[in-house]
Parts: sequence; structure tokens; C-alpha cells
Amino acid sequence: MDNKVTVDGLTFVPYLTSDEINKQVKRVAAELREDLKGKNPLFLCVLNGAFMFAADLIREVGINDSRINFVKYSSYEGTSSTGKVKEIMGLTEDIEGVDVVIVEDIVDTGLTASMMVADLKKRNPRSIRFVTLLHKPESSKTGFKPDYVAFSIPPKFIIGYGLDLDGKVRNLKDIYVIEEE
Ligand code: 5GP
Repeated sequence: MDNKVTVDGLTFVPYLTSDEINKQVKRVAAELREDLKGKNPLFLCVLNGAFMFAADLIREVGINDSRINFVKYSSYEGTSSTGKVKEIMGLTEDIEGVDVVIVEDIVDTGLTASMMVADLKKRNPRSIRFVTLLHKPESSKTGFKPDYVAFSIPPKFIIGYGLDLDGKVRNLKDIYVIEEE
């Protein structure tokens, strides 16, 4: 793990190692495997940030009859939420009667998550489960509570393992937090 990462003039310090991430991915995957027994779920990976978590999680859950699709929303500019959620790529397939598992990178204000769940509910799925790698409960503006959380974290800006700063540093294997002044 690098000691520090500098991107666009901001400095980030180590926060969660890939070993710690793997451990929590395995824990959440085991819970999901148990809860999804006998079901053929549809995993909905929320792009772009959740791609790495979703790839690790879905392989670990290991249900061969599950399917995977992708949706895309945007609310962030730089290091803060704009408060407005834009749907950039919606879901075209029919999810009526389907057990849907939304896989998100991070729940911050909860605006994206609550909008997404409300929108998907209108399409009559059998169930919706919401999994997130990271949850910032203190940033909540909606009271939204994810069903599965790998890590609960304080309201600080983080990068790595799929999470970006203006599109960069998604490649990092570990997670870094913005350095305090
Ligand atoms: P929310 O709608 O819950 O406020 O924000 C959700 C989205 O904001 C996440 O999917 C993610 O793209 C972005 N986001 C929130 N907090 C962070 C953060 O600490 N780091 C990064 N890179 N993105 C974040």
C-alpha cells in the first residue's frame, strides 16, 4: 500500500487495506448467499464506482443462476455532493417478480439510493436488497438504511477500490481518505 496518494493537488492517506476489504466482502457475501438461498437474483451494479466491489462480491456469492446488469447515476462533482441525482443509464429489462440486489459503492446523503429504490419498486420486483461497500450514516439526508454494509465510516471523502476523484484513482487496490489539515 502506498503511504500517500496525491491527485489533483489533494493528498490522501491509507484507510482500508485490500486485506480488510476482502475480509468484509467475504462476510457480506456469506450473508447474501444465505439470504438468497433458492433464489435466482438479479444483481444491479451501480456504475461507475461499484464495479470493483460488485465483481468481487458477486463472484464470492457464487450463485450460477444469478444475473448481472448495470445502472448509472451521478450526483458528485469533485469532492462533494451536488444534492441532485441524475439518471445517466437506466434499466431496460423487466424486473417484475425478480429478486433484485442493488450493489453500490457508497451511501452518503442517501439521495441516490432512495431515488433508485423508489424507481425500481414501481416495476414490481419480488424483493429489493441494497448492498453497499461503504456507508456514511452521519451524512444521511434521507434516513435511508442499506440492508448490507461492508464498512460504516465517518463523513470524510475517500478514494480507491473503484471510488474516484473526478474519474481518477479508481484503480487503487486499497481505500484512502483525504488528509486532514
Ligand atoms: P449520495 O446520493 O448517497 O449522496 O451519494 C452517492 C454517490 O456519491 C456514490 O455512489 C459516490 O459516487 C459518490 N460519493 C459519496 N461519497 C463519496 C466519497 O467519499 N468518495 C467518492 N469517491 N465518491 C463519493
